[in-house]
Amino acid sequence: MTLAPKPGILDIAPYVGGRASVPGVARVFKLSSNESPLGPSPAALAALDEAKASLSLYPEGSARLLREAIAAVFGLDPARIVASGDGSDALLTMLANAYLQPGDEVIFSAHAFLVYKIATLANSARPVIVPEKTTNQAIKVDVDAMLAAVTPRTRMLYIANPNNPTGSYLPRDEMARLHAGLPADVLLVIDAAYCEYVTAGDYDCGLALARAHDNVVMTRTFSKIHGLAGLRIGWMYAPVPVCDVINRIRGPFNTALMQQLVGAAAIRDTDHVRRAAEHNAHWLRWVTDEIRATGLRVDDSAANFVLIHFPQAGKTAAAADAFLGQGGIILRGVASYGLPDCLRMTIGTEEQNRLAVALLRKFMAA
Ligand SMILES: *Cc1c(COP(=O)(O)O)cnc(C)c1O
Repeated sequence: MTLAPKPGILDIAPYVGGRASVPGVARVFKLSSNESPLGPSPAALAALDEAKASLSLYPEGSARLLREAIAAVFGLDPARIVASGDGSDALLTMLANAYLQPGDEVIFSAHAFLVYKIATLANSARPVIVPEKTTNQAIKVDVDAMLAAVTPRTRMLYIANPNNPTGSYLPRDEMARLHAGLPADVLLVIDAAYCEYVTAGDYDCGLALARAHDNVVMTRTFSKIHGLAGLRIGWMYAPVPVCDVINRIRGPFNTALMQQLVGAAAIRDTDHVRRAAEHNAHWLRWVTDEIRATGLRVDDSAANFVLIHFPQAGKTAAAADAFLGQGGIILRGVASYGLPDCLRMTIGTEEQNRLAVALLRKFMAA
């Protein structure tokens, strides 16, 4: 007899994050993890100090002060919010833990966020991976193909909107059509980690659908536009019965007081969020145009990163990655996402963006 985990767990490829250093290169800019070039709000940093006085005490278990701050900013019912002190990743995982049984099917797109597959396999459920539609400037979720993949075993469908690492987004109408085609006992999980960056008028982060239907959840994070990836705060907006389920299985004190206070200050600082979105909109356009001018394919992105394609022999993603690394810029290899010919670049500061573009120009000209 041997000690064995649940079926599926040993099929999981452990998640590997973006690199943070290059051997032998002293000064590097990390554009590999979609972190904010503006960092956290000054108000969030100030709130960090407040938490110091209470480190010996357990936090309020439901993260009430954080949920109420989020609810006030977005006009939501705080009873329909669950917070997480281990990022939105933990919420995506808890939803799978709560709703999946062995043999259940979970639908997501071929180049979806890796956490969906991990959470599915960890519950002995079956990933049903649906190819996207690819054009010469985008890799987009195929709503019809996703709906065609639904079977009586389907229990969940994960979709990041916008998606990481493709950067593409699904318009409001298309998301509504996807939802309308799902049976009522399939949970639609809309991962809106990058929603604050989207400028398109035909986009909705998922709130409208989650408000109106019993089988829709929207997850959000403080890791991206709020510049707090290191503090690991996430939240979800869900129907009351789903919140009730997750509240039964989450850690009883899953959001530290420090996380609650800093998160509440960050969400209230809507000026900081707007500044970060404006910075991104400007430099996303510039980076996209400048890299396209080198001859490389860059997909349209609605998020805070771009997906760059390196299809040519001699100008491979691996060669570009090595060249940029020596020049002090770390991008994200996305072979683990099934995109071995691509690199993902986070929109950085002006200095970082200019250096990355200059290096890519040099790489292509060499
Ligand atoms: C970065 C990211 C998240 C956020 O994860 P956290 O655990 O909240 O840091 C969620 N979904 C996608 C698609 C992401 O890229």
